Amino acid sequence: MSGRWLFDTPEVGGSRLTQALVVDDSAVYRKLIGDHLRSWGFGVTLAETGSEAWRILEQPDAPKLVLLDWVLPDLDGIEICQRIRQAGSSGPYVYVILLTSNEGRQNMLDAMQAGADDYLAKPFDELELKANLLVGKRILDLQEELVSARESMRHAATHDSLTGLMNRGEIVGMLQRELERARREHKPVGVLLGDVDHFKSVNDTLGHLFGDEALREIGRRLRKQLRIYDGVGRYGGEEFLMVLPNCDLPNTLLRANELREIVGSTPVVYSGEERLITMSMGVAISACDGKNEVEALLHQADAGLYLAKENGRNRIEHFTGPARKTTAGRSRKS
Ligand code: GH3
Ligand code: MG
Ligand code: MG
Repeated sequence: MSGRWLFDTPEVGGSRLTQALVVDDSAVYRKLIGDHLRSWGFGVTLAETGSEAWRILEQPDAPKLVLLDWVLPDLDGIEICQRIRQAGSSGPYVYVILLTSNEGRQNMLDAMQAGADDYLAKPFDELELKANLLVGKRILDLQEELVSARESMRHAATHDSLTGLMNRGEIVGMLQRELERARREHKPVGVLLGDVDHFKSVNDTLGHLFGDEALREIGRRLRKQLRIYDGVGRYGGEEFLMVLPNCDLPNTLLRANELREIVGSTPVVYSGEERLITMSMGVAISACDGKNEVEALLHQADAGLYLAKENGRNRIEHFTGPARKTTAGRSRKS
């Protein structure tokens, strides 16, 4: 079999180039292997010494496929293998083919123990090189698929599928982390709990699909208005929780009003229908001294939300009175 199709990974919009690093102090071998790899569709980086190779491998986005001569003037192939494996548990997998002389074959097990994935005894022919690369490429592709599957599972477990925002567990986790940071740095954290007004009637009059789109659009508006290090998550059905690190009370109130405005100032449009939809919000600010601060803050924000509903909706409230009933288990209809 010949031809570069063997190594191309078809993807939507074209094929992806696998980068290979060829490390050999012999100019003849560098050229020979480099030329083969290029003709089979690999991107090629060349290095002459072990330390030069290691410098390249330490860079972000370093090649994932390495053809490494065993005997090099400074760092030898075995040592580089060991360094790759020591460094590599968190990053993407690096597939290493160690190049040995024919006499070096009997030490091949040492190479594997040091972390090499395969070896190739010099002189080799084109077919042997191609077979080794085929296996390497397959392993790297499988590893990449695995990483992206793990990433999408992690995303699915932490995000809400309707709005794409963080889910309840994730946004409450963020609040917890931000409170810990704020405690160390003596900075405030602003918390906003928003609830869409009369959302049941949106569903009842315009249908659930319109309601779903309204939740997506509200999520987009909130996200767009917030700073990159603020967090917003879907806290429940039509409730959104926002975490504003390093935001004191006056600023949090200001920002809450901006967010309320952005939600309620333009109608949501979907499938030929449109509707102005508003949101009420409860505001809370961290005090940095309570024990169960997450719960206390959520409780305070919920009390503010209850008040905002009571006082007419499409408004924000910061509840400061004594402990009182909150929205949980209570109807807010008026
Ligand atoms: P209030 O102003 O007091 O908050 O009134 P409300 O109608 O918004 O409150 P209520 O709790 O009575 O109704 C909330 C509604 O939100 C009921 C529920 O069907 C709807 N809802 C919750 N999650 C979703 C969702 O994912 N999609 C849609 N379309 N509706 C949802
Ligand atoms: Mg509501
Ligand atoms: Mg609600």
